[in-house]
Amino acid sequence: MPNFTPQKLREIGYELFQKAGCLKKDSENVVDHLVESNLFGHDSHGAIRFAEYLRALREKRFQPQATPEIIQDFPSVAVVDANGGLGQIGANFAMNLAIKKAHKNGIGTVALRNTSHIGRIGAYPLLAARQGFIAQAFVNAGRLGYQIAPFGGIEGVLSTNPMAFSAPRREDNPIVLDMTTSVVAEGKIRVAINQERNVPEGWIIDSQGNSTTDPLKFKADPPGAILPLGGVVGHKGTGLSIMVELLGGALSGEGCAAGDRKMTSNGVLFTVYNIEHFTNLGRYFDLVESLISHVKSSRPGKGFKEILIPGEPEFRSALRREKEGINVDDNTWSDIKKEAEFLQINLST
Ligand code: NAD
Repeated sequence: MPNFTPQKLREIGYELFQKAGCLKKDSENVVDHLVESNLFGHDSHGAIRFAEYLRALREKRFQPQATPEIIQDFPSVAVVDANGGLGQIGANFAMNLAIKKAHKNGIGTVALRNTSHIGRIGAYPLLAARQGFIAQAFVNAGRLGYQIAPFGGIEGVLSTNPMAFSAPRREDNPIVLDMTTSVVAEGKIRVAINQERNVPEGWIIDSQGNSTTDPLKFKADPPGAILPLGGVVGHKGTGLSIMVELLGGALSGEGCAAGDRKMTSNGVLFTVYNIEHFTNLGRYFDLVESLISHVKSSRPGKGFKEILIPGEPEFRSALRREKEGINVDDNTWSDIKKEAEFLQINLST
């Protein structure tokens, strides 16, 4: 399994995406996002997506040089159509617009459609938190709807429908909660398949509704399904997922789960809050820090060394992987090399 420094992996990505027709700045935008996902430990949204996005460009399902367009504009609300470009381009554009609106008017909400796959959702609220705002994201997968079983059902009808929130801290990295409303992201099943290992109990069921740890059962025909978040109280995960469908899919105009098996685009809703329009900034930071100290004061239970705050696992992973490098499994690497061949780029490790 090849291991790359983050910079080497970025350089490989820049070359591939530019050769596939993307502008230099857009290639950097997309590849930096994906490599940061690997650094954060989310291999499901890292270099594994190089081949997926390049194939979509080759098949002309994504437009390499599309420019996002504001199609509805109010003081605190806008709707953006990304014109079928690479997801990270549209999503960064939309989040920057929401930040601008929040800066001026206290709150900025921007819906985004026709943007393909935007990757790791937490990246966008984090962008706002790094500039001192609190932000949230609700993201569906348009009409795609077959991966996640609803509570009580055995057939997949919903998507993983993630949501993410980020809030700044006085000195430390922001809090980042970035989570699917299913037990796990679909990409993590793909990673397990590529790494030829089983998934933990409680993630998926087979097409007959039996619990299984074999990730290939999820991809079988007829397919299995990922379970909704919440285990025995999975009605809460399904409920959240339905609301994400409406916030991300209906408000953006991208559409809601309707049984499609191929995703055209995420449907996105970002909201940014300007803290100073609500409260004094110093008071806010005092409350964040006392809340975190209070939460961390709980004695850890069996199998836990300490209480972590959302986002801490990712920032720690990034420190580790900056030093140790990023492992790209053999199947993912072989997929990247296949796409490189189409682009007449010779990749060696
Ligand atoms: P996850 O379960 O690994 O993490 C969810 C959240 O829990 C994170 O905020 C993490 O910081 C926090 N966390 C993890 N362990 C913790 C601990 N011990 N203590 C405290 N907090 C902890 O993530 P996931 O739900 O499997 O999602 C993985 C990625 O997939 C996310 O980046 C998500 O945005 C992405 N995703 C994208 C799409 C898309 O369509 N673009 C769809 C689904 C998922």
